Amino acid sequence: MRKFIAAANWKMNCTKEQAKTLVEDLLAISHTLDKRHLVVLAVPYPYLIMVKDLVGQNNDYFTVAAQNVHHKDHGAYTGEISAAMLASIGVEYVVIGHSERREQFGESNELLAQKINIALEYGLKPIFCCGEPLEVREAGSQNEYVKKQLQESLFHLSTEQMKNVVIAYEPIWAIGTGKTASIEQAQDMHFHLRAMLIKQYDENVANSVSILYGGSVKADNAEALFNCPSVDGGLVGGASLIAADFEKIIEGL
Ligand code: PEP
Repeated sequence: MRKFIAAANWKMNCTKEQAKTLVEDLLAISHTLDKRHLVVLAVPYPYLIMVKDLVGQNNDYFTVAAQNVHHKDHGAYTGEISAAMLASIGVEYVVIGHSERREQFGESNELLAQKINIALEYGLKPIFCCGEPLEVREAGSQNEYVKKQLQESLFHLSTEQMKNVVIAYEPIWAIGTGKTASIEQAQDMHFHLRAMLIKQYDENVANSVSILYGGSVKADNAEALFNCPSVDGGLVGGASLIAADFEKIIEGL
């Protein structure tokens, strides 16, 4: 059965010391979690090994993620990080297709399909981000927009591969803006996403894939969002950098 996930996306934030303190604070609430829950910490590359060590082996509740991965196996790609490297240090998840990467680094649906493939090839579980810009939402075409993102980046996957993917619906107009999707908007889109999985695959796959909401999730709105029947947790940016806030968000799972 799918997990309820609170995923932290630290983006390009924190010094090493800040990272250590933040993780230590979060680990102190491990006892409040149960087997249905998972906390995924998507931290900057230099901290992956340290955070993995802090979390410890065989931790059922906390795990680490990279925020990106290169689409090629290896080679002359100065400054890039491969799936093989991430797998070799025991990273379990990788965020793929965050809107900041799509917008600032020109990552297309086709490129993201390659990243998904190489991540799965090396046993990494992708957290695939999708979501529409404001003008698409205002035009009421968000369902078609998101459907195309899934069709072009995910729907070539086999049934077994798809079960290892987490989807994060992140409306771009809600990321870092303080503007959260309403409960109804989140529920509608998540219901649509699961219906797409049923149509493309089957009920079993649709019930195996966690679908997270992202976009200005805060300590005071997380629980209401996570209570939507089709929402399986959240991908959290800003509020994941403050231990007390992210702990409250985790409690909302
Ligand atoms: C994100 O970066 O994925 C995100 C949702 O950011 P924020 O929570 O700050 O809106």
